[in-house]
Amino acid sequence: MHLNFADVCFHLGLDPASLTGGSHVVRSPIDGSELARLPPHDRADVGEAVAKAQAAFLEWRGVPPPKRGELVRLFGEELRHHKQHLGRLVTIESGKIIQEGLGEVQEMIDICDFAVGLSRQLYGLTIASERPGHRLMESWHPLGPVGVITAFNFPVAVWAWNAALALVCGDPVVWKPSEKTPLTALACWAIFERAWARYAEAPRDLVQVLVGGRELGEALADDPRLPLISATGSCRMGRDLGPRVQRRFGRPLLELGGNNGMIVCASADLDLTVRAILFSAAGTAGQRCTSLRRLFLHDQVYDELLGRLKAAYERIAVGNPLDPGTLVGPLIDAGALERMQGALERAVAEGGRVFGGERVVVEGHVDACYVRPAIVEMPGQTALVREETFAPILYVMRYGDLAEAIRHHNDVPQGLASSIFTTDVREAELFMSAEGSDCGIVNVNAGPSGAEIGGAFGGEKETGGGRESGSDAWKAYMRRATNTINYSRELPLAQGIEFD
Ligand code: NAD
Repeated sequence: MHLNFADVCFHLGLDPASLTGGSHVVRSPIDGSELARLPPHDRADVGEAVAKAQAAFLEWRGVPPPKRGELVRLFGEELRHHKQHLGRLVTIESGKIIQEGLGEVQEMIDICDFAVGLSRQLYGLTIASERPGHRLMESWHPLGPVGVITAFNFPVAVWAWNAALALVCGDPVVWKPSEKTPLTALACWAIFERAWARYAEAPRDLVQVLVGGRELGEALADDPRLPLISATGSCRMGRDLGPRVQRRFGRPLLELGGNNGMIVCASADLDLTVRAILFSAAGTAGQRCTSLRRLFLHDQVYDELLGRLKAAYERIAVGNPLDPGTLVGPLIDAGALERMQGALERAVAEGGRVFGGERVVVEGHVDACYVRPAIVEMPGQTALVREETFAPILYVMRYGDLAEAIRHHNDVPQGLASSIFTTDVREAELFMSAEGSDCGIVNVNAGPSGAEIGGAFGGEKETGGGRESGSDAWKAYMRRATNTINYSRELPLAQGIEFD
């Protein structure tokens, strides 16, 4: 099945000789086979990479932003050219289905387009001054090299959200991808190098990749030459990394775990709802930060919707993610399978009724971890339901009163994505209001997963509070200067202070 792997690497510019001989083993979750043995980096390499990024910064910050945008435009062009191969490598390395692998690369292309436009729109405000003959304004300047740490489940798109914005903002990027998905990162680097080679004015080392585990992430977190560390991963990781960065007065941008809910009201369009639930709960084998994990069903639709869901779950095609007919690929590894099985056992102990969730043996791939997505009817929001288990488990709970459902919905430590299905404008508005969902992403008649790049992405509470991608997320990658300009012949002081 990996007959194509060598081909894919060749087209992406990954030299086969560089993929062997090291101690960092990379496996495909599709069949558990070994893909590569990479030489890992160490802490000294991190220091060197940061020094190079700093040197690049001194040059890059002086390049006008629209010219910086030109490099990102070329990168977007290269990505268009390499979309099929990179999408395939995403699937081979992370196990998501091929449509989603390609979708991730499309997301990279989209954020490049967005960043190119943004490169001419790094606006500051002009503010009314209280002093005569004065002007007050804001300027936005490049911040410095940025450390980007990413998770296995979005091995390329999340990096691109960061990198495309950082580059137009004037910041080089040092990237520490997940230890489980370094090949896609190396491929992105090779693609970026092609864009770089076509662009005359860019310094070297605007993008660097470090191969290794958490110790490299910690080294980035501790390095005072990196004013911003953008980190995507579990709440556990953020709890370690956030204070570490702040201790040296660096800026952490955290995109952490989610425990995303959906409320289905009595008036909901059930055809729409079933499809949305299926994609957001079972898609990507439940391994999206925005995957639907908690479903609150109104009494009046509980039985019908649950029946339809179970019927749909039985038909889900689980299998090799490279096959176009597959909807659910494998879990990332045996650890993920163990955590899923442990959660299902606990669910039963906490009064849950489990439907599905069993291991699926896919012919020829006995070492891989395929599962049928699970639906679990729960008597209430128990301790287990309040945790994120990174697997396709959907906890279903019953409600009668919307205000009470919203209270339960918000009663979890995480605050990433949420949604309501209703055709009642009052219910929809309440859910989006200050008394509604407390998440960073609040949707109506659309599932919690599958965000567009144009909006700011991120969440509250233990999800970390960061915002990435669209809207004004670019501001995190720049420093703001407030400028006061006196064009008068006097020196009036603010607050009317007299000083002579
Ligand atoms: P993880 O936390 O195990 O690892 C994420 C990254 O952090 C890896 O590169 C890892 O090497 C690094 N890391 C781990 N501990 C670290 C530490 N103490 N200091 C510095 N770096 C450290 O997460 P994962 O298993 O790769 O991904 C799944 C998790 O990521 C889920 O919780 C999911 O919800 C979350 N996630 C969040 C978002 C988001 O945008 N909010 C997106 C994708 C994934």
